[in-house]
Amino acid sequence: MNIDKYEIVIGLEVHAELKTNTKIFCNCTTKFGGEPNTHVCPVCLGLPGVLPVLNKKVVDFAIIAGLALDCEIAEYSKFDRKNYYYPDLPKNFQTSQYDLPICLNGYLDINVDGETKRIGITRIHMEEDAGKLVHGGETISSSDFSLVDYNRTGVPLLEIVSEPDMRSPLEARAYLEQLKAVLEYTEVSDCKMQEGSLRCDANISIMPKGSSVFGTRTEIKNLNSFRALQRALEYEILRQAEVVEEGGTVIQETRTWDDAKGITLPLRSKEEAHDYRYFPEPDLLPLVISRDWVERIKKTLPELPQARKERLIKEYGLPEYDAGIITGSKALADYFASCVNIYPEAKTISNWLMGDLTRLLNAGEKEITDSPITPEMLVEMLQLLDKGTISGKIAKTVFEEMFETGKRAEEIVKEKGLVQISDQASLEKMVDEVIGANPKSVEDYRAGKEKAIGFLVGQVMKLSKGKANPGLVNTMLREKMK
Ligand SMILES: [Zn+2]
Repeated sequence: MNIDKYEIVIGLEVHAELKTNTKIFCNCTTKFGGEPNTHVCPVCLGLPGVLPVLNKKVVDFAIIAGLALDCEIAEYSKFDRKNYYYPDLPKNFQTSQYDLPICLNGYLDINVDGETKRIGITRIHMEEDAGKLVHGGETISSSDFSLVDYNRTGVPLLEIVSEPDMRSPLEARAYLEQLKAVLEYTEVSDCKMQEGSLRCDANISIMPKGSSVFGTRTEIKNLNSFRALQRALEYEILRQAEVVEEGGTVIQETRTWDDAKGITLPLRSKEEAHDYRYFPEPDLLPLVISRDWVERIKKTLPELPQARKERLIKEYGLPEYDAGIITGSKALADYFASCVNIYPEAKTISNWLMGDLTRLLNAGEKEITDSPITPEMLVEMLQLLDKGTISGKIAKTVFEEMFETGKRAEEIVKEKGLVQISDQASLEKMVDEVIGANPKSVEDYRAGKEKAIGFLVGQVMKLSKGKANPGLVNTMLREKMK
């Protein structure tokens, strides 16, 4: 099927749990986990007669996020009740914001294939999270029963709604990555996707190239990783194109992403706003935000990812690619900063971070903040390398061992006898042995084939189990084959 004749239109709705200590309308803890239904009180359980009190920190965080995303902060906004029935919602309505949200008309710049593109942000509003259903079986449909845990009920959320400005799954992914970075830098959310503190729904439609009339969109729920977002969108584009090619019409509906099967499935026909019977929350006053309040917060805004990226390029001469990867996560950028503070070779550090460290973290499903190797430990290892105590090849082994055991480089080198052999007397025997065993290569070298020396050095390295000083071996070989 030729999907090139279609234009793809994607908009994202991102929910971010805020990093407050307490819930949005009561003083229950927002801590993740805990025994089911222990982080609850009459307010978040919606018992009769209780009154919500707005957590000021939630408003602060909404203003911070709004400013970081270049939104207008509304002077006047209000809360509304979004009515629906579902067991995870004890009040049978969610307190949210409808027609007067706190932030409007922002944008976020993304970078795809070296090109910068501006994605509009329609609005940001505050709302409360619902509880969690724990199904008795594998899936909801194969379960005999489901349990409800209200610990998450009332945890504050920001819903960040983009304009339908993205034109490919890659752009959507780049937007979510960049948005996550902004929320991390401003420290309004911990953005742990695996714990559900950053979740994403995607609206997607296709239309013939050149058309200005959007096709009917579907909404995909349950996208809790960058990979899931990209895969789900790629699948849905093909599915919609197939429907159209076969002469059918795409139905407006909400679909769910089945990560294991790699497909989207219909969940329910898409509800319209009027189905929710929104009405103003009578228990909360409208929210009036003074310009002073906004100005005060503006002064506390930290450096944002884009600015930090430009600084790494300027201050440390990092290539744009490296700077983009490193500043893509605040924790990684902070790790980098701790390293260059005590060891000035920025590019060497960036190579280790983007290469071996990222590989080991991914393999162990660990975050950089859980890295057993601290910046100091990485620098100590690099210094051993600089001093010639260990070879570049051994350094990789030492690094893996450090990651595995949390031991420092020097200790590992001593324990395992990995010190680089740099004295001629110890190397001589091995060099002679290799020369004796490879007459063909020696002949090639003498005939002017430079490649042969590389092979011979490699043989000595092998014989020494990677411990020989390769520079010295090279010199000794040349000397002896003169
Ligand atoms: Zn509570």
